[in-house]
Amino acid sequence: MELKKKDIRALTKEQLREFFVKQGDKAFRGNQVYEWLWKKSAYSFEDMTNVSIETRQMLDENFVINHIKVDQMQRSSDGTIKNAVRLHDDLIVESVLIPTASRTTACVSSQVGCSLDCRFCATAKLKRMRNLNPDEIYDQVVAIDNESRLYHNRPLSNIVFMGMGEPLMNYNNVLKAIDKITSSEGLGMSPKRIVVSTSGVPKMIKKMADDNVKFKLAVSLHSAIDEIRTSIMPFNATFPLRDLREALEYWYAATKNRITYEYVVWDGINDTRKDVEALVEFCKFAPSKVNLIEYNPIDDGEFQQAHSQAIDMYVNILEANNITVTVRRSRGKDIDAACGQLANKG
Ligand code: SAH
Repeated sequence: MELKKKDIRALTKEQLREFFVKQGDKAFRGNQVYEWLWKKSAYSFEDMTNVSIETRQMLDENFVINHIKVDQMQRSSDGTIKNAVRLHDDLIVESVLIPTASRTTACVSSQVGCSLDCRFCATAKLKRMRNLNPDEIYDQVVAIDNESRLYHNRPLSNIVFMGMGEPLMNYNNVLKAIDKITSSEGLGMSPKRIVVSTSGVPKMIKKMADDNVKFKLAVSLHSAIDEIRTSIMPFNATFPLRDLREALEYWYAATKNRITYEYVVWDGINDTRKDVEALVEFCKFAPSKVNLIEYNPIDDGEFQQAHSQAIDMYVNILEANNITVTVRRSRGKDIDAACGQLANKG
């Protein structure tokens, strides 16, 4: 019977060093291979040219490198790029490169599908198949970084966990991926340039605070009124706003990091003065910023973007209450790469 080969990137550097010592080799060989696997993103053992051919063969007999493959790359007229990424078990996730004048942002997926059920989101129509492994998240970032250098002549500057999935429901792997992304043995990026976006899982927000993480937090709020939020994000019935708010207070007390709220204003759903006032109230307990994001229609969507008067009302009332607010236009709509459109087609 052929033994199933192990994913070599599931090993820590220490485990890899121990493996080589057990093989009668030097621990240092582990460092070399580790560098190929992470810093140099090797696709195969053959690439590891400073390691002997015998060692490469031995690795090949024992391990696999489950590197992602960019199956399809689409380029938008606004410079946005969407990658359809094939995983080793043939499942597909998507990641997006978003260029602006001053930065290039990678929007990466954390799960195949999503276990949440936000009614306005295309990804929610897919059921959650599985969590991504740390290396699968890392590889998406590397692929976008390469594309950024190739098509925009500059390295990636920022990362947002706003692709498919709920990152806090795959917390351990997201954390491990961020460790690699920020480590000098990986991409060496600053955690301050990474945003983890969540629909709001209170227990995990507290855990992040306890873990003393250095990246930033964004919360997809969309309504500060329980009844309305539950009607568009049904899991809010399980994690109501009171619990979310308590967790965010805990987060702010521990990190002193401003909280960003993602918020779409829909016609007839959350476009009244009462809705804005509830949002203002919700923002009061910690320094907050509100990103009003444009609604991107999904095929069978029953939701409509609110009229511009409603958006103006939000901006005016928030500003009058000293809450920073930005109105964000979507990018990459023509290739279904905008917020909530991932998995729209196929
Ligand atoms: N599950 C995480 C990560 C996904 S982020 C989260 O909810 O934060 C994707 C962002 O796009 C979220 O803010 C989500 O609320 C928003 N979104 C989803 N569908 C959308 C749509 N059709 N138009 C605009 N934004 C959408």
